[in-house]
Amino acid sequence: MDNSCLFCRIVAGEIPATVVHRTETTIAFRDIDPKAPTHVLVIPVGHYADVVTLAAADPAAAADVLAAAAAVAEIEGLTGDGFRIIFNTGEYAGQEVFHVHAHVLGGAPLGPMLA
Ligand code: 5GP
Ligand code: ZN
Repeated sequence: MDNSCLFCRIVAGEIPATVVHRTETTIAFRDIDPKAPTHVLVIPVGHYADVVTLAAADPAAAADVLAAAAAVAEIEGLTGDGFRIIFNTGEYAGQEVFHVHAHVLGGAPLGPMLA
């Protein structure tokens, strides 16, 4: 746990979040500022800055995050119409929280990726 990390503090229960799915290695919770009707963040409980770091350090945990993102899509009813999974990675991508997180977005047509 990194005490200066917002998402580690959510894992620790120090900051409230609306949790929609949880496994031994992941937590999924609603984004505080949703960019789509459904916007859930899926994180590993361990602290890794981004998805590249996670995949290199713990490939099984990276797979767990993807499996949890798929489970969230199913739970949230997104799988029929389609949805998006995004890992913003680094400053040029707009990453603001440096604890790796998958954005699961759906519930309406999302438009072109880079609009
Ligand atoms: P990034 O830009 O790093 O890929 O995405 C960070 C996301 O975290 C943003 O979509 C932002 O709305 C969300 N976020 C920031 N602070 C909080 C918070 O305290 N709680 C929750 N649930 N989401 C947050
Ligand atoms: Zn963290």
